[in-house]
Amino acid sequence: MPRKNYPRSQPVQKNRQPLTTVHELNNCHQKRRFSTQQQAEREIASRQLTDPQLLLATYKCHWCGGWHLTSR
Ligand SMILES: [Zn+2]
Repeated sequence: MPRKNYPRSQPVQKNRQPLTTVHELNNCHQKRRFSTQQQAEREIASRQLTDPQLLLATYKCHWCGGWHLTSR
């Protein structure tokens, strides 16, 4: 009976850290995207009509190349 060559259990790469960028990427997909900063700022302006206390800022996203809103 041929001896079966079991593969050795491979070392688990416990030190392998998840990419921190994944979180940012997911965050990007959850956020509303604007193609231009002007559109994003227009959205802020319209929201501040109903909520003047709202403080939002626009930022350019390097993942999707669009613009998102972030609370300050
Ligand atoms: Zn994005």
